[in-house]
Amino acid sequence: MNLILLGPPGAGKGTQAEGIAKKRGLIQLSTGDMLRAAVKAGTPIGQEASAIMEAGGLVPDHIVIKIIAERIAQPDCVKGFILDGFPRTLKQASALDELLSSQGKKIDAVVELRVNDAELLARIEKRARETIAAGGVPRADDKPETAKNRLWAYYRETAPLTGYYFAKGKLHSLDGMAPIGEVGAQLDTVLSGLAAP
Ligand code: AMP
Repeated sequence: MNLILLGPPGAGKGTQAEGIAKKRGLIQLSTGDMLRAAVKAGTPIGQEASAIMEAGGLVPDHIVIKIIAERIAQPDCVKGFILDGFPRTLKQASALDELLSSQGKKIDAVVELRVNDAELLARIEKRARETIAAGGVPRADDKPETAKNRLWAYYRETAPLTGYYFAKGKLHSLDGMAPIGEVGAQLDTVLSGLAAP
């Protein structure tokens, strides 16, 4: 089963993707995590992405498409994957379709997590506060101004993907305002419905 989790920053995509990946034996593919690892390792991609990420913008399509194409080609992805944070633009979505169809694969479902804007910003602030309280260093892009830029990038570039996948008959929308466990249960119901004959 190959899935996409869609939703604005702070909607809970990472948390839910991790839960489903564990429960269903899927590989979680988060371009945000991959880019943060590249920044930390100081690779050429990391150097190019670093300032863009810190400003809350989107890393150029050709970079993230290349990262995902290489990762999906790895043997462990044969058992199925869940994309979290990719695609984020229509160009990325159509590149993904081409990539998968060239390998005889497809996306089985796209699940959108809907959360209201004020709640998103509050969640991101809370995540930063909790990380600091636990003695850690919060994500550079969790600063309030940057979080707003990320939200704006979502509406400008990523929100049209709900229409793209609705038109393909793949979109499922869930109430991402519900508690984490409830969202997980709703997600599970959607996925179990897909597996039915
Ligand atoms: P995330 O962890 O998914 O919130 O991603 C953190 C940051 O990484 C984003 O704000 C972007 O700067 C960058 N990023 C992650 N995935 C993508 C993508 N698919 N396209 C462009 N930029 C991305």
